[in-house]
This record gives sequence, structure tokens and C-alpha cells, in this order.
Amino acid sequence: MHFLRCFIILFLIYIALQINLCLPSIPSSLKTLPIAGHFDFEHVHHAAKDFGNRYSFLPLAVLHPKSASDIATTVKHISHMGPGSRLTVAARGHGHSLQGQAQAHRGVVINMESLQGSKMQVHTGNFPYVDVSGGELWINILHETLKHGLAPKSWTDYLHLTVGGTLSNAGISGQAFRHGPQISNVHQLEVVTGKGEVVSCSEKQNSDLFYSVLGGLGQFGIITRAQISLEPAPKMVKWIRVLYTDFATFAKDQERLISVKNTFDYIEGFVMINRTGLLNNWRSSFNPKDPVQASQFKSDGRILFCLELAKYFNPEEMAVANEEVTSSLSELNHIPSTLFQSEVPYIEFLDRVHVSEIKLRSKGLWEVPHPWLNLLIPRSKIHSFAEQVFGNILTNTSNGPVLIYPVNKSKWDNRTSAVLPEEDVFYLVAFLTSAVPSSRGSDGMDHILSQNRRILESCERGGFGVKQYLPHYSTQGEWRSHFGLQWEAFVQRKSTYDPLRILAPGQRIFQKAT
Ligand code: FAD
Repeated sequence: MHFLRCFIILFLIYIALQINLCLPSIPSSLKTLPIAGHFDFEHVHHAAKDFGNRYSFLPLAVLHPKSASDIATTVKHISHMGPGSRLTVAARGHGHSLQGQAQAHRGVVINMESLQGSKMQVHTGNFPYVDVSGGELWINILHETLKHGLAPKSWTDYLHLTVGGTLSNAGISGQAFRHGPQISNVHQLEVVTGKGEVVSCSEKQNSDLFYSVLGGLGQFGIITRAQISLEPAPKMVKWIRVLYTDFATFAKDQERLISVKNTFDYIEGFVMINRTGLLNNWRSSFNPKDPVQASQFKSDGRILFCLELAKYFNPEEMAVANEEVTSSLSELNHIPSTLFQSEVPYIEFLDRVHVSEIKLRSKGLWEVPHPWLNLLIPRSKIHSFAEQVFGNILTNTSNGPVLIYPVNKSKWDNRTSAVLPEEDVFYLVAFLTSAVPSSRGSDGMDHILSQNRRILESCERGGFGVKQYLPHYSTQGEWRSHFGLQWEAFVQRKSTYDPLRILAPGQRIFQKAT
């Protein structure tokens, strides 16, 4: 017995030594790679953090690449390390993931923002586009393209995110009903695959890789450059909010607006339930010139639905824009006394969430845990969903905004990796909650997570055919059911472009082959 115990202890010591002897040699082999950028083996803590503030996995090293070739050299080296190595690679955009998706436990994180050195190039002409680094922030692209009177067509609500980060998901905002998500507005990509190859791809060239990577959760390659479609940029925006007490009327107006041609340029909406505090106003940076702000409307305990609209215009076309807005608004069925309007510069409208970010940061409310839940819900089920969730499972929206707006599936390309509900119109419903770390109350993590669970269970029970956006699962079975019929193709693409399963381990879809 004694002998057996000694043997087991010695064996465990041997294994521990093997692990310890093996691991330090990995970073040192990286040190000798012929790259123009550099590895950092000490300051790696930043790469173990993200906006979600819930998961933290320390990498062994952070690569600050100067070029796509630095990334290719690193990925190729790691892919040649053989099956014994557990080293994985995560591209990190701006680290605004929610559940560690851009992290790599004891792996290599690539700081994509270091790639920004290569200049943005704006191409004018009939089909204008901008050629940018995969690590570029959308806010910088906006500033640069505006110098040419142009701007991307499709946005996210918050612009301090990278091109590679949003194109790996979809990039959805109030323009998506017309232009599709950001992944529908890309001409070409340059990608480093999991084999370390640098490949240009587009609809015409290496199209399977192109569509794999768009919405591909970082699984097939690292986007090092992208050509983003542009349109003439307006100077000004009419920013409008109207309120409803009845969900059916609100949804009917939203759906009508996204189905007609001559309509607004941006259509979103949000829910207000017993709102208090600053957090729920974080997207409400509305022009203070307004006599009464929409978000302060007294609802007498009722649930309110706010339709948010924007019409782009240039000062010289003001009269026409006014006429079009008046005509479109006259067809809506909102509470008549609740029309809130302001006119703001285009750039101010697009960068509106950043204003709230600054306010929240100053109060220590930005870097808190964010247990967000984002759902895509088929049109036919949105009424049942609203009935079960708003006012029942969700009894206040004080912990952060709840967005709700429909988009047209016809504007999405079904060759991408993005996973969508079955119907032609579906709603994005985003519960953008913030948690107070030590609270046990309704703003605490436990309460919010249990609320999220109840929402998901209610969707499951109702057979709503809901898909998660920015999905997060812990088992492969759950991923399989998320992808549904697309699962086999997703796995096939993985084995083609990243056969050793090196890339984006933080998504927890695949484990590195050992
Ligand atoms: P990261 O968090 O750094 O990375 C996300 C994933 O993409 C990771 O798996 C990472 O490995 C991978 N990745 C990163 N860069 C690359 C690359 N170059 N090539 C390949 N893979 C890469 N989303 C919307 O669609 N609409 C919104 O309106 C919206 N609003 C938001 C508002 C806020 C305040 C926040 C925090 C997020 C919002 N998001 C929105 C979600 C956002 O689009 C995603 O979280 C996105 O991933 C963040 O981009 P990032 O650059 O920080 O990516």
C-alpha cells in the first residue's frame, strides 16, 4: 500500500515536472521568430480582460504584430509545433467581448490594434470603399472616410470596436434593415488561416473562405485587412423618438417602416419598464434642447415602447427632409403627445454611445460585469415573447437598456457563417444589463443571470426558434443545436481552414487537436 502511494506521488511529480519543463520552452521558441513586431511575455494581464468582466484567462504571450506576415509566421510556427503543443491563438480586437471570446488560456493573444500602422485607403468612384486593417476601430474609419464625404453604410451602435471583431459576429444596428449587417457590406478580405497562410478572398476569389470568415466567430482565420463598402455621408441627422404603450402597435409600425422604400435611414427601438438611474439612459444621449426627453416620460407604471428613428439630410435639402419625415410620421400610431425630435451632426449621432461611456466611466459604472443577452427572434413569435418577458420575467429596465427592432433577412447573405432564425423578418432583442459586483439584489449578478436563464427557458418552452447573437455555450452539444443544419458545414470549414483547431479558443466551440 505504502509502495503504491509512493509510486503515485512520484508519478504525479514526474508529470508536473514534464508540464513545467515543457511550457517555458514554448515562449522561448516564439522569441526567435523572424518578425517585425514583438512578443510581450510580461504584460499579459490586459489580454485576460474584456468588456463582459466575467471571464479571465491569462495568455502566455501577447503578440504586437506590425504586419499580416508577423501573424502568419506566428500561426504557422504554432501549427508546426505538433500535436503535443496545446498552444492556441486568439486575435484580440478591442476586447469588447462578453465571455472571454478574445482570450487564450496559456496561449498567444494577438493585439490586432497594433496592425493599425498600415494606412487606411479610401477609394472613390461608383462603388466606393475603404481598405482598412482588421484591427482598425470603426470610429477611426468614420473620421477618415468623412474627409472624402463618404462613410460606411452599416454600423454598430458603439463605434469603439474593431473591424475584425464585429465582422466575426455580424455588426447589427438601425441601418441593418436596409443595408444588412456589416458582414453584408464587405468587398474583400485578407485573412491569415489557421495554417498560417495569407489569403485574399472575396465573393469571386476564394469565396468559401470569404463567407466562412464573415460571422465565423474567429474560427477560420484572422482578418488582417478588409474593404468596406461606402456611401455618400450626410452632414446632419433628424433624430426622433415616439412612444407606445401597446406592443402590438409598436411592432406593427416598426415592421411597416422596415418594409417600405422611402423611409428612415435608421430604425431601432427600446423597452422601458420602471426605469430609474443612469444606466438605463446610456444610449439616450439626446439633445438637451428638447423640452421633454423621451426617456423621462412619465408612464404611470405602464410599460413603454420607444421607437427610435433617424433621417439623414444635408442642410440644403432640409425642406425635403422635413416633408418626408412629416409624411412618414403621420402614418405612425404612437401616443400623439410623444414626439421628440432633435437635429444633430451625423458624427454625433453615430458616436452617441461614446458620450454615455464617458459619463458611466466617470462614475465607475463602465468597467462592471456585463451579463448581456442578445437574441434573434422570428417575427411570428415576437408577440408571445414580449408577453412572457416584458413585465413578467423582466420587471424593470434600470440595470441597462433593452433594445428591440426588426431586420429583413433578405439583406443577409446565407453563405456567411452567421446563424439566423428561419423567418424573413426577425427581431434583435438585446438585454444590455450591468451588474453591481457585490450586490445580492436585483442589480446583482445572480439575479441577472437567473433572469437571463428564465428568458431562455421561456423561449425554449415556447418553441420560439430563437438564435443567440454573440452566442456563448459551454458544451459542443449546445453549439451543435445553435448551428442546427449549418453545423456540419461549420465543422467542415474548420477542418479546411484551421485543421489543428488553433484559432479563437475563447469561443469554446472546438478544442485544439492534441
Ligand atoms: P473582440 O472582443 O476583441 O473579439 C471578438 C471575437 O472576434 C473573438 O473571438 C476574437 O478572437 C475575434 N476577432 C477579433 N479580431 C479578429 C480578427 N481581426 N480576425 C478574426 N477574428 C477576430 N454588436 C453589434 O452587432 N451591434 C451593436 O450595436 C453592438 N453594440 C455594442 C456596444 C458595446 C458597448 C459593446 C461592448 C459591444 C457591442 N456590440 C455590438 C458587440 C460587438 O460587436 C462584439 O462584442 C465585438 O466582438 C467587439 O469587437 P472587438 O473588436 O472588441 O472584438
